[in-house]
Amino acid sequence: VTERRYDPISGEWRMFATRRQDRTFLPAEDACPLCPTREGGPATEIPLSEFEVVVFENQFPSLVREPPEPDVADSSLYPVAPSAGAAEVIVYSDDHHLGLAEMDVARIARIVDVWADRYAELGSRDEVAYVFVFENRGVAVGVTLHHPHGQIYAYPEIPPRARRELDMATAHIADFGTCVYCDVVARERADGVRVVAHNQSFLAFVPFAARFPYEVHVASLRHVASLLDLTDPERLALAEILQRVIGAYDSLFGFPLPYVMSMHQAPTDDGAHEHVSHLHLEFTPLHRTAQKLKYLAGSELGAGAFINDTAPEDTAARLRAASVGTEAGRG
Ligand SMILES: [Zn+2]
Ligand SMILES: [Zn+2]
Ligand SMILES: [Zn+2]
Repeated sequence: VTERRYDPISGEWRMFATRRQDRTFLPAEDACPLCPTREGGPATEIPLSEFEVVVFENQFPSLVREPPEPDVADSSLYPVAPSAGAAEVIVYSDDHHLGLAEMDVARIARIVDVWADRYAELGSRDEVAYVFVFENRGVAVGVTLHHPHGQIYAYPEIPPRARRELDMATAHIADFGTCVYCDVVARERADGVRVVAHNQSFLAFVPFAARFPYEVHVASLRHVASLLDLTDPERLALAEILQRVIGAYDSLFGFPLPYVMSMHQAPTDDGAHEHVSHLHLEFTPLHRTAQKLKYLAGSELGAGAFINDTAPEDTAARLRAASVGTEAGRG
């Protein structure tokens, strides 16, 4: 079964991809499908003996360029649609142990360039309404391959979380005449207490009403709708602040902190979204402490109402101190 089904109760499309059950699950390092194909060694998914950064189509995709017809019949109550779109894997480096936290800023900037290129190319396809760049890091958030990599999904409609943010931004412009994210960035810079790190072009902060204890958002200081609007120095600044945020996580916890990193940019359908889309990334780690995870339970899953048992100002202070420590450590 590879299809999309519409839930008439929530108004959301859900993706079905039953072949994904057969995915490779946490293989040993010497059987890693994302390592280069070394001379004399087994063939991996990447037929290169070395590489800097590589993108290819996910072998177990939930969205594909030429999707099969759905297995179930469509009806007015239960609309069904083909899984049109794309699912890509972006392998950050040919080194099995070199993730975003370990590589230098120039190399992260190359990955930012690739994200921008894929956003442009996938977004230019007629069937693609939204390009979503993300990374799942760590077994706690469901990673099935340890080799540092991220993913890119190209959806045929704007997904629910992005849809809600756009609707809120649209309402904010109607009420106040300004971009809500620009207002948030200005407020966080003025308050300072939730700031984790900042540079000439980006701000990293724990949101005022964070869902997760160590949630961090990274936003462009300037109003830009997507990576394509960033200048080269701004792309470098994004690379630098990502390194600092992840470095702060890892030095505060003492291990690579599992997280989901989500990038929100303008949709690529035919709509006019420049004024309501403000480029930002959201880091959502599940850890409350080094030993304890925050599980989504009754209030979050059943009611959609998050309860956070930490003060964002406190977690921001801890991350800020760890970020400064990382810089000092790098000399
Ligand atoms: Zn590997
Ligand atoms: Zn803005
Ligand atoms: Zn967002």
